[in-house]
Amino acid sequence: MTSLRTIRGYAFDLDGTIWAGPHLLPGAAELVEDLRRAGLAVVFASNSSRHGSERLARELTRLGIAAGPREVVAAFDLTAAEVLERVGPVPLLAIGTDELAGSLAFVGHEPLPLDRWGEARAVVVGNDPMFDFDRLRAASRAVAAGAAFFAVNLDARYPVADGFDPGCGALAEAVATASRTRPIVVGKPHPRLFETAVSRLGCPPAQAAMIGDSQASDIVGGKAAGMFTIWVAPHADVPAVVEPDLAVAGLPELHDLWRDANGRAGSAGLSA
Ligand SMILES: [Mg+2]
Repeated sequence: MTSLRTIRGYAFDLDGTIWAGPHLLPGAAELVEDLRRAGLAVVFASNSSRHGSERLARELTRLGIAAGPREVVAAFDLTAAEVLERVGPVPLLAIGTDELAGSLAFVGHEPLPLDRWGEARAVVVGNDPMFDFDRLRAASRAVAAGAAFFAVNLDARYPVADGFDPGCGALAEAVATASRTRPIVVGKPHPRLFETAVSRLGCPPAQAAMIGDSQASDIVGGKAAGMFTIWVAPHADVPAVVEPDLAVAGLPELHDLWRDANGRAGSAGLSA
């Protein structure tokens, strides 16, 4: 049976699990360092729709967790390929950051200005800090006219240092409501991101853990992918809608459980 003793690879969600806004959450750097020192594989599996793996890896490194782009799997990075596979290289509306439009253009799509929504063959919605009525109107008209509709993720909220911003899902749902069309979702809980993370970990799914704060994204998707699921739930009043394999209040608690399961000394201070 899978337990913290038999897991060979750990996939960590980023927003709300490793960091919140510009700060690492307590215990994140220490846990990742200990897992790596024990020879276990670590990747970061993020629903990020604002930035891709290169930028996320740089940010992790800057905050104290050294990482390269191959160790970060972001829904952002999978989006351009998903659009390409389903509809080919097309003129499209990119509702999101300039970085998102750039990644779509990089693989051959043609991001259009809003006033050319009638030519769009696809609409891609990411988290867009500049989202407004004009963007909502252009995107929903294009989708209603037959453009394929993609959402990088459907997360309702985007955790930031002082609370939350509306997530990519909040914006995509506005387009879905106005166009009366459901989006194709690229990120968690859909399988592609988990499959990519597990293949980077280099172990079977049953020996891989998915650690995250979102039941709907991390736990539902991790279970479906056959992974061991660990729900980071700092607020005990949030009921579990799906049963994770393990629930912890934060990464320090997970670190303690991992040390206990692997028979390691509690803290470096004890052996001094
Ligand atoms: Mg999260």
